[in-house]
Amino acid sequence: MLNLDIQKIRKDFPILNQQIYNKPLVYFDNGATTQKPQIVIDEESKIYSQENSNIHRGVHYLSEQLTQRYEDARKTVQKFINAPHDHEIILTSGTTESINTIAYSFGEKYVNEGDEIIISTLEHHANIVPWQMLCERKKAVLKVIPINDKGELLLDEYQKLISPKTKIVAVNQVSNALGTVNDVKKIIEIAHKNDIPVLIDGAQSVQHNVVDVQDLDCDFFVFSGHKLYGPNGIGVIYGKEKFLNEMPPYMTGGEMIKKVTFEKTTFNELPFKFEAGTPNYVAAIGLATAIDYIQELGLENIAAYEKELLDYATEKLESIEGLRIIGTAANKVCAISFILENIHHFDAGMVIDKMGIAVRTGHHCAEPLMDRFNIEGTLRASFAFYNTKEEIDKLYDAILTVKQMFG
Ligand code: PMP
Repeated sequence: MLNLDIQKIRKDFPILNQQIYNKPLVYFDNGATTQKPQIVIDEESKIYSQENSNIHRGVHYLSEQLTQRYEDARKTVQKFINAPHDHEIILTSGTTESINTIAYSFGEKYVNEGDEIIISTLEHHANIVPWQMLCERKKAVLKVIPINDKGELLLDEYQKLISPKTKIVAVNQVSNALGTVNDVKKIIEIAHKNDIPVLIDGAQSVQHNVVDVQDLDCDFFVFSGHKLYGPNGIGVIYGKEKFLNEMPPYMTGGEMIKKVTFEKTTFNELPFKFEAGTPNYVAAIGLATAIDYIQELGLENIAAYEKELLDYATEKLESIEGLRIIGTAANKVCAISFILENIHHFDAGMVIDKMGIAVRTGHHCAEPLMDRFNIEGTLRASFAFYNTKEEIDKLYDAILTVKQMFG
């Protein structure tokens, strides 16, 4: 029994109600960014028109009120991922800044020459390059967990990569390019047996399933607001207090200090030590509004419906001759990457676009993963709870048209 009224939900997202090339928009690029419900758009507009003032500074009414709302937003994020303390939630501009912050700051404190860092073949560039740069700075070594042909991590190989020199493991919970859901609980368990902390990139997981950082026991968890039906320019670091307290600040400047003299600066306590400058308080409050919105729908309901969409789309697309799905893991979220025999993904994407359907084309910021499959890129259709089976039918028809045109 479907617990979501999809037609009613679609009315909450004004952008969906439009024509592209005289065809109703079908938005299947949710892995790149999700659309925003009106309630989030209204919240941001209300702040700018009635409540705006810089936070954590003034003693005046507007500043105090908005400071409270910003700190309440932090608590909403804390509860959303079940973090133990609100000071373990650092608000950033997005997953990319979150990972850069940790890679730099953790690296400064704990990584030395000859040490090792483990990532996986499935990572987005945002969870590769910061670690690579750290390895270059510190003369450390980057090790990579391999995958099988279905796009699943090989956990036996992972075990073999662990050594007394391993300082951190950083992997995503869900692959943006393939949709693979990784068994991060197991990955964390294995690392912890060896006293190694783990960072989980949750950019593609928080919007699809319930995340409980205490249950996972991850040491760091990061995600972006814009992929969670929230605003752009806001992201999250959850970090265990022990590490965050020991780690040096990444960015420095206003707000993150306790005392500044020209001789020496002492730093503020958590979470402010990692929030230099004026934070994006408008987006933080917008993110809390988005979290309230999806919690109202229920992540369990969202997961169940999205599974229906994934199964439906997989079966339909698989039936198309010459279409190969890249990423056939047993456990996936609702994203399908595929290639068409003898047709370049850009050509196919452009034709599909002309039918009002937005799909992603390219390497999905995961070039090493594309290399692993010996391909340049794929087309990716990534679904959200506001998508429908009728829209998937339209994608199916569009792919048949592409095949006719180029076949
Ligand atoms: N990690 C993953 C798995 C992602 O999908 C993305 C965004 N595509 C990122 C990191 C980077 O997120 P952002 O661009 O919001 O910083």
